[in-house]
Amino acid sequence: MTEILDLSHVRLGDRPLVVCDVDDVVLHFVAPFQEFLRGEGHELLPRSFRLTGNIVSIETQIALEHPDVRRLIEAFFEAQENWQIPTDLVVQTLDTLSKDADVVFLTAMPPRYREHRRRLLDQIGLTFPMIASEEPKGPIMQRLHAGRPLPSVFIDDMAHNLHSVRDHVTECLLLHMMPDSPLHLLAPKPADGIVRAADWGHAAELIRRHIQPEAA
Ligand SMILES: [Mg+2]
Repeated sequence: MTEILDLSHVRLGDRPLVVCDVDDVVLHFVAPFQEFLRGEGHELLPRSFRLTGNIVSIETQIALEHPDVRRLIEAFFEAQENWQIPTDLVVQTLDTLSKDADVVFLTAMPPRYREHRRRLLDQIGLTFPMIASEEPKGPIMQRLHAGRPLPSVFIDDMAHNLHSVRDHVTECLLLHMMPDSPLHLLAPKPADGIVRAADWGHAAELIRRHIQPEAA
């Protein structure tokens, strides 16, 4: 039996909605994860866009099996407060946007690390509501926005998340934002019509134009 994800802590006003991924959009992920791996005696070789098969022992160059990769990812999430830092301009940009829009974080992470992430975001000053779930993002955002006739925006570094939201939320501005890590350069590209935001300054301009077209 699947439990229905609880969204009751997210209260939306009568204003635009900005839903934002966390890893590699709001907090650096891939760079600190690589550093974390080196500390554990492993390294991530950007040979293809996946972790299993590309994390190898520094000593033997043998790839770790999937359960070990999973364990390392979980250990990283457990210790995220010691490793993850905000991306450039994210704090100021979301703070400014939040004067005119509701900001919500939608993070694909095992929910049992949600308290770690909540503490980290709060400490940085990013106190917006957060949903932690490994379910597809489109149906979650659809439930959240619930067809309200208000502008919506979704920002993520992963094509599959952007496509999921495109398929469930009409007229949502989809922004692709990613670090130029060697791993991300190998990632599947988002479909046409999904706009690449180079950084938070650029994202702010695009969001502004979408939620307040008369002011742009
Ligand atoms: Mg991400």
